[in-house]
Parts: sequence; C-alpha cells; structure tokens
Amino acid sequence: MKTRSGALAPVGSACLEKVISCLDKVRSSGRNRWMARCPAHEDRSPSLAITETSDGVVLLKCFAGCTAHQIVNAIGLEMRDLFPGSTPARSGPSRKAVEHEQMIYRIGKALSDQGRLAGDDLQRFELAKQRLGVA
Ligand SMILES: [Zn+2]
Repeated sequence: MKTRSGALAPVGSACLEKVISCLDKVRSSGRNRWMARCPAHEDRSPSLAITETSDGVVLLKCFAGCTAHQIVNAIGLEMRDLFPGSTPARSGPSRKAVEHEQMIYRIGKALSDQGRLAGDDLQRFELAKQRLGVA
C-alpha cells in the first residue's frame, strides 16, 4: 500500500493536497502551515510558506517575493485551485441567465431577418440585446 502523498504530513482540503503534491521539500511548520521550495524562483532553502485557512483556502507566500499567481503557474495549477469548490463570480448574471438571453436574441434575430419581429417580441429582443451588450 502506498499513498499518493507519500510521507507528507496529513493534509486537510483537496486544494491543499493538490498544491502540496506539486511542491518540493514540503515540511510542516505548525498547525495548518507548511514550508516548501518555491517553484517560481531558484529556491535553495524552502522559502514558500503555505497556509490553509479554516475555509479551506490555500494561501501562498514566497519570502523572495513571487506572487501566488507565479507560484501556481510554475506547478501547472491555476488560482482557482487555491479555493475550495470552484465558486463562480458572485456578481453579474448567472451563466444560465446569459444563455437564456442569447436564445431570445437568436430567436429575435431570426424573426427580425424574416421581418416578423414586432410588439412584445421586439421589446423582448431589444431587452436581450441590452442585457447581452449587443449593439
Ligand atoms: Zn519564489
């Protein structure tokens, strides 16, 4: 039996495990804290601090000044890999709402091409255009 994370300290969230499994010379430096070799610069001694918040978010801090963005890029991950659950942007319409407007726009466009777009349909078409930012 061999676990994927090998001899590493037990880890919490899926985010943390994913990040840590990509890093070198990981060692625990306290509760929910680890140190590792920074993948974004020539790091001889581990200078990357990894912290897991109570929300399961992984914080990366390189003492040489690399940004979290550079660090995740260097190990082939993305910023969203540091956050549990891929939470979509809270602001703006949902993807479903946008798709709905696009459908109305396509239907309205087709009716308009046939010269049959009028009344409520026309108004709704104009609204969809406005919402989608279509000129
Ligand atoms: Zn660094």
